[in-house]
Parts: sequence; C-alpha cells; structure tokens
Amino acid sequence: MSYVFTPPAPVGVPVVGQAALFPVHRIYCVGRNYEEHAREMGHSGGREAPFFFMKPADAVLVAPAGSTAVMPYPTLTTNLHHEVELVVAIGVGGSHIRAADALRHIYGYAVGLDMTRRDLQNDMKKQGRPWCIGKGFDHSAPMGPITPAAQVPDIARAGIYLQVNGQDRQRSTVAKLIWSVAETIEQLSAAWTLQPGDLIFTGTPEGVGAVVRGDTLVGGVDGLQPLSVRVE
Ligand code: MN
Repeated sequence: MSYVFTPPAPVGVPVVGQAALFPVHRIYCVGRNYEEHAREMGHSGGREAPFFFMKPADAVLVAPAGSTAVMPYPTLTTNLHHEVELVVAIGVGGSHIRAADALRHIYGYAVGLDMTRRDLQNDMKKQGRPWCIGKGFDHSAPMGPITPAAQVPDIARAGIYLQVNGQDRQRSTVAKLIWSVAETIEQLSAAWTLQPGDLIFTGTPEGVGAVVRGDTLVGGVDGLQPLSVRVE
C-alpha cells in the first residue's frame, strides 16, 4: 500500500510497567457526569441520559510520569478551563456491550484533563452549535500514563483531584459519577462500535475554573500516575 503522503503515526500513550505504547484510536468524552459539576454549569443535576462529544485523537498531550508537559495556551480564548477526569482506555472493542460485561473491555485507566475553551463552548451552546471549537482543539487532552486495569484495585471509589500552582481546585471521588464506568461503556457502545485504542474521558467533578499562562496543573486519581502540565 502506498499513500500520496506519509500518514501520521498514531498517538502513543505510555503504559505503566512496559515499554510498548497504547495507540489512541478515538477520544470520547462524557458531559455532565458528576451532579455538583452539572449544578455549577447551571443544570439541575440528576440522572439524565448521558451525552457524549469527541476530541480528535491527536489532541492528546502526553504527560510522561515524573515530568511536566507543556501545553501552549490555545488561540481564540481568554477563558481556558481545566476539567480533571478519569480516563478509561479500551483494549477490547465491541458494540452493545452490557454494563455487566464492560470491565473486560477495559485495558486500563489514566488521569486526563478535558481542557476547554469555555468562552467558545458557551457561545456555541447559546447558538445551538457544535462544541468542537470549545472542546476539540490542539493539545486539549493532556493525559498521564495508562495503568493496566489489573493493577488498579478499586477505581470505582478512587479519589480524584486537581491542583493549580499547589492549591486545590477540584477534589471528589469517582464514586460520585452519575453514570459509572460500566454504564458509560454500555451507553457509548450502543451509539458507536468501540475499538481497541479508544479513550473515554468520563466527566469532571465540580470546581472547574480558568488557568492562565505560567500555571502548573497537577491532576490525580488514587492508584494512578499523577499528571503534571504547565500552560505556556
Ligand atoms: Mn469534561
């Protein structure tokens, strides 16, 4: 097979404990999946059906363990927000996956940031237009290394947090997900056929807010490698 130009290599995310990288296929994101975050965004909360949006696979900004990745401040915005999220990495694809079977489709977990140009997202919401420009921009998905699921004892009750310049901004627990990881996979796989390499950003808890150039963000989920990103 030849191509008219060299196709880009897949984005590879480091995996804890091995040299091989996890090749990213698609990035799915869940909207409003923690009640207190839904409230802070002006919604009543409660268990409405989950909804999804996507980021391009090459929006991943890899933040290797023990180092700080640099995220260029994006264009067109003056209100860049952080959203720390548990990221689920799919290892076995499928469609119409039942929640009871979902865990065997999971390769591992990571900490991610659903970075958001909030001003642009809000403009698009008001106009009933797609969120892409607010959510799917370059470097909008920083993430740390993936820990294989077998090495993560109790992700469903893990603490999740984000600090900016050493100060707490977000702190909650994965137990507060409105739609659990397994339920999210059930709903998502009814709409799209999941493939190995897919990532799911599962939603952010309350406390989202703006960052500016020079800020350092440290995000974590208990049992996973933390993530460190500096905005420049
Ligand atoms: Mn989000």
